[in-house]
Amino acid sequence: MRLVILGAPGAGKGTQASLLAEFYHCPHVSTGDIFRKAIAEDTQMGREADRHISQGRLVPDEITIELVKQRIEEPDCQYGFVLDGYPRTQNQAVRLDEILRQKCLYLNKAIQIELGEDEIYRRLANRRVCTDCGATYHLDSLPPKTPGICDLCGSALIQRDDDNDETIKERIIVYHKLTEPVLSYYKKQGSLLVTSGEGDILDVHKTIINSLETRSLRANDSH
Ligand SMILES: [Zn+2]
Repeated sequence: MRLVILGAPGAGKGTQASLLAEFYHCPHVSTGDIFRKAIAEDTQMGREADRHISQGRLVPDEITIELVKQRIEEPDCQYGFVLDGYPRTQNQAVRLDEILRQKCLYLNKAIQIELGEDEIYRRLANRRVCTDCGATYHLDSLPPKTPGICDLCGSALIQRDDDNDETIKERIIVYHKLTEPVLSYYKKQGSLLVTSGEGDILDVHKTIINSLETRSLRANDSH
């Protein structure tokens, strides 16, 4: 299964991507992780990405596309992946299709997680991230076992600098501006699956799985 997860900041992309990856036994490929790794390895593209991220800008398309291409060409992505944080622009979506087509592969679905703005604010205000491994927690729905400490690696949890009201507003505006064309692109292609991100994490997950499995059953029926 080759999937991309789309949604505004705070819509639960990372959480749903990781549940889907577990369900389909394939890697959860997040651009956040890819950038962190490239920066830690101090590669040329990592240094370039770091320059943009540290100034609060999006990493340019060319670097993002190349790093994602390298990642999905690794052997563990051979039978599928769940992409999270990519594509952020229509150009990135087009290039992903090209990369896959060259291998005679295609994207199964682009899943858009919809969430109202009030809920986005509430969730981002309650979000805490690990300073070391990047794991994400929510004080209400997914709290760490020990307050302020990452369950996975024991490092300190922080509130991201950009998870404050003014920055959230700006990020939502940027998200809509960049991602609306991506949504139209997948809609035209017939691969867009829209799902509500409201409510319990596992209920949202089940709804997504049901939609994906129903669709593939229907596809099999028609053969
Ligand atoms: Zn951690």
